[in-house]
Amino acid sequence: MIDFEPTENSRKAREFYRRMALEQMRPVSRRYDEDEHALPTEWVDYYWQTGRKGAPGSLGGATDGFVQVCIQAEELCFGDAGLYLRMPTAALGGSAVSAAGTPEQKERFLRPFRESPHPIWGAMAITEASAGSDSAAIQTSARYDAERDEWVLNGTKIFCTAGEGASQIEGGFVVVWATVDKTLGRGGIKSFVVPAKTPGMKLVGLEKKLGIRASDTATLVFEDCRVASANLLGGRAKAEKKAEPARAGDKGFKGAMATFDASRPIVAAMAVGVGRAALDFLVEELARQGVEIRYDSPPRSQTALERDVIDMQAELQAARLLTWRAASMMNRGRPNSLEASMAKAKAGLVVTKITQKAVELLGPPGYSKKLLVEKWMRDAKINDIYEGTQQINQLIVARRILEYSSSQLR
Ligand SMILES: Cc1cc2nc3c(=O)[nH]c(=O)nc-3n(C[C@H](O)[C@H](O)[C@H](O)COP(=O)(O)OP(=O)(O)OC[C@H]3O[C@@H](n4cnc5c(N)ncnc54)[C@H](O)[C@@H]3O)c2cc1C
Repeated sequence: MIDFEPTENSRKAREFYRRMALEQMRPVSRRYDEDEHALPTEWVDYYWQTGRKGAPGSLGGATDGFVQVCIQAEELCFGDAGLYLRMPTAALGGSAVSAAGTPEQKERFLRPFRESPHPIWGAMAITEASAGSDSAAIQTSARYDAERDEWVLNGTKIFCTAGEGASQIEGGFVVVWATVDKTLGRGGIKSFVVPAKTPGMKLVGLEKKLGIRASDTATLVFEDCRVASANLLGGRAKAEKKAEPARAGDKGFKGAMATFDASRPIVAAMAVGVGRAALDFLVEELARQGVEIRYDSPPRSQTALERDVIDMQAELQAARLLTWRAASMMNRGRPNSLEASMAKAKAGLVVTKITQKAVELLGPPGYSKKLLVEKWMRDAKINDIYEGTQQINQLIVARRILEYSSSQLR
């Protein structure tokens, strides 16, 4: 039997995060959209002290843990996607450590997120000026210094979400993708955990953005930045590394890519959250104006507006179900790269369409800053860009279905 109903645990979690979205995020939503780069202290402190503990009784021992992570993402992005990304968590950096780290590394890097006395952040730095979708083109280099048993990183990373907090606040870290040998292409790429405040890691700028403006998006420069060899994700024994530095790192590029199997369903869930914010608001506003959606009347007697709303609701639900499917496969340890990309591609497209349509159908008020709908339209587009663009995720889906390799279908 296929059962898409959330468990009792997930229902509890959903209620808990929905309240958090409405009570803690929405009241400061506009303020931190306008005051880009300001730290949303009331939200960060609330989340660190209260919110991160989760819904009482809902998360401990849950069998649907990763589905709940997606439910949390949907609910909190229903609140505010920018503030969600500014939450003090290990975020994408944590996904990378979980996907590719050794048990010792997971313990060492993730424990502070449970125990630190102050809020801390994790981030992942892949993108460079000439390496976005094509991550095999990464130029940031990692040189092994055998004498000191350290890796030395050099290069510049751009558009690093949570990069300010993760690089500057003690206890956090940035996972940096770098090549140990450019001639090897993707085979040379490894990921390294660079703890916050490591000498040689410099925060040189913050982006001014269209949407998710409460989120800090950083440019980080690495200049002879040294990290212990034990910080190579999925690292190998020292002797092997000395003999064969170019092949160090058990999981290498594949391990790094495995991060996306976890992160894409989360981004898809975020997209669903933003889309639902706009759609729910639209339906409530229409009801306030006396326009009810007649779900049970035949299509020929429905208005164009009713058909638009029903279509948006169906699309949103399709994106949500794809997301939960990818998440529940992840939860059960089943390979989910295809489903993760399907969910991400669908949700990225759907949220862009829904938020634009909501602005349109609300008339001039939809375009006004008096409402949050125009903000949700700006917050939506990023879901179609990061963690693999729409085109790249469609490409991955095609490759998986047709059983082509990345060199056969580019
Ligand atoms: C707000 C924000 C936050 C971000 N956060 C992070 C982060 O935390 N960490 C990080 O590492 N990166 C982050 N990124 C970077 C993001 O992941 C990249 O922008 C994304 O991967 C696309 O890369 P690119 O911008 O270089 O575009 P390009 O790769 O140059 O692509 C440009 C266009 O060409 C298309 N294209 C490229 N290749 C193909 C192909 N083979 N077939 C068809 N179409 C193709 C793309 O889909 C896109 O439409 C962030 C970006 C933004 C805007």
